[in-house]
Amino acid sequence: MDNKVVKILLVDDDEDDYIMTRDLISEIEGTRYELTWVTTYDKALEAIDGKNHDIYLVDFHLGERSGLELLREASEKGCRAPIIILTGQADKGLDVQAMRSGAADYLVKGQINAPLLDRSIRYSIERKRSEDDIYRMAYYDILTTLPNRLLFNDRLTQAIALAERHDRLAAMLFLDLDNFKRINDTFGHHMGDDLLKKVAERLRRCMRKGDSLTKHGPDDPSDTVARLGGDEFTIILCEISRPEDAARVAQRILDALSPQFTLGAYELYVSASIGIAIYPHDGIDADSLLKNADAAMYHAKSEGKKNYQYYRQSMNASALERLTMENHLRKALEREEFVLYYQPQLDMKTGEIVGLEALIRWRQAGNKLIPPGEFIPIAEETGLIIPMSNWILHTACTQRKEWHAAGFPHIPVSINISSQQFQQKNFANTIKKVMEDTDTRPKDIILEITESTLMHNSDAVFTTLYELSKLGLRLSIDDFGTGYSSLSYLKRFPLHAIKIDRSFIKDVNTNPDDAAISKAIISMAHSLKLKVVAEGVETRHQLVFLSEQGCDEIQGFLFSRPVPVEEILKLLTGEKKGRGLVSSVLNRVWETAQKS
Ligand code: C2E
Ligand code: MG
Ligand code: MG
Repeated sequence: MDNKVVKILLVDDDEDDYIMTRDLISEIEGTRYELTWVTTYDKALEAIDGKNHDIYLVDFHLGERSGLELLREASEKGCRAPIIILTGQADKGLDVQAMRSGAADYLVKGQINAPLLDRSIRYSIERKRSEDDIYRMAYYDILTTLPNRLLFNDRLTQAIALAERHDRLAAMLFLDLDNFKRINDTFGHHMGDDLLKKVAERLRRCMRKGDSLTKHGPDDPSDTVARLGGDEFTIILCEISRPEDAARVAQRILDALSPQFTLGAYELYVSASIGIAIYPHDGIDADSLLKNADAAMYHAKSEGKKNYQYYRQSMNASALERLTMENHLRKALEREEFVLYYQPQLDMKTGEIVGLEALIRWRQAGNKLIPPGEFIPIAEETGLIIPMSNWILHTACTQRKEWHAAGFPHIPVSINISSQQFQQKNFANTIKKVMEDTDTRPKDIILEITESTLMHNSDAVFTTLYELSKLGLRLSIDDFGTGYSSLSYLKRFPLHAIKIDRSFIKDVNTNPDDAAISKAIISMAHSLKLKVVAEGVETRHQLVFLSEQGCDEIQGFLFSRPVPVEEILKLLTGEKKGRGLVSSVLNRVWETAQKS
């Protein structure tokens, strides 16, 4: 044993025993010991957690509890230091029991002398050390120090069990270096080994902490990358929520491998092909996942190497599309490729424009306009929705000033608020700041939140709602009717209007259910003193129906699609010039409807 101080923790509730042990230890020559003493089970566990000791001497009787219990709990906590059990009397049964529970040794207090204690401690530590070495050799790859095939199998099985228990997905990535054989043949095995070590290091650095399964033992708990042999590596991703998450990690790995490797005097470029198999879609046990990820890896090779492929072909397209979309979205935000369109909302009685809803579009190169339905969900998943929403708020408030200056100061702009934005703690403050920066009065904007946002996490939502109404802001419930909330539930919130979802308006003239729902929403909303806006009004028949039911405002293609800000001004001034343009349509509709 080397010369370092051996730290011992004695767990014993009897002070006499402590004094005896201390005296024995002071008699020992040759090894330097440092003894600490705790009296209770809980203190012992705390100390074990601290991992500050090389060995534990534990009394068999610890008040109500036993040393064997502590032994078990310590080993469950991943304690690797040896534990020696001390007891008052010799008992064959107990000593076997202690050894079976994992004790390193068993000593009878009255029969201990200094040399015996010294030997027991040193042997226990040495034995544990060689056990650890054996464990390391059995479960780790010597070259790269990554987990080997055996440990990988073990962990994959654990990952599957965990995913099953929590009803989640798990992924296994099979990675094979491209053209490794050529490197080996050209530069020799020595260089090849060096390269593998460097690749292993980069792979290790790629992993998030959470990609791993914690396993007790001398291994680093964040290890999730394994080397199966040769230039084959595997990666386990526990508990992912969507198959695309695996593609994200695969891409991260491909990116991490792409900078050059310096090997001695040479600089090499190395790439890899990766196959992905998802539990439970592509297999429900370790063997089938491994086999299918391997097959997918071969497919990646045949696709020109340096790429990843899912075992299920259908996933390749959708994962790639999402990833590309995510990257493009990020760039689009930087390059300010988003624009706001506005759609008028009209008063049902006067036909005047009484509001404008801001609706985002993504103008891609070549003037291609992408509708929000295609990118808002991805922005929400990736958190990009927050910077995007801030841009929307700012832009809508700034643009509103244009129609204010053009003589329409009374027309508010409705801004859609995403649920993530709404759930931010400082949301009301964010809005307040934007309003101050853009010289916006509370009556200049209306916030639209969906019914599902309102139903979600009501405490946080409730607080935000009140903070917003304290600022004097009006709130509308968007897409009403799709979220299963009852109107009486809405009574609790300070709201301005509800917008009946387009899906009910669409067939309001042909589907009696939709007609009945719309009718009920309007009359109940009115009884709660809420305004009602109908979305997606496309036909005169819908208009007539809504007018008969006393709906307050309408929005839809019948009058105008969402249009760019310049055109809104034309619409507004056109309305001003030919006042009644819209209401005359309404009148005509009324007249025809009444005649027929
Ligand atoms: P929404 O807030 O319910 O917006 C109304 C949607 O209905 C708009 O689709 C609008 O173009 C469409 N629409 C209006 N009238 C008619 C009609 O007569 N017929 C038909 N078929 N459709 C009509 P758009 O612009 O594609 O937006 C879709 C959804 O995307 C919005 O639904 C909203 O939830 C979200 N969104 C749009 N802009 C933003 C934004 O700036 N921020 C956030 N967070 N979400 C937005
Ligand atoms: Mg809306
Ligand atoms: Mg809507």
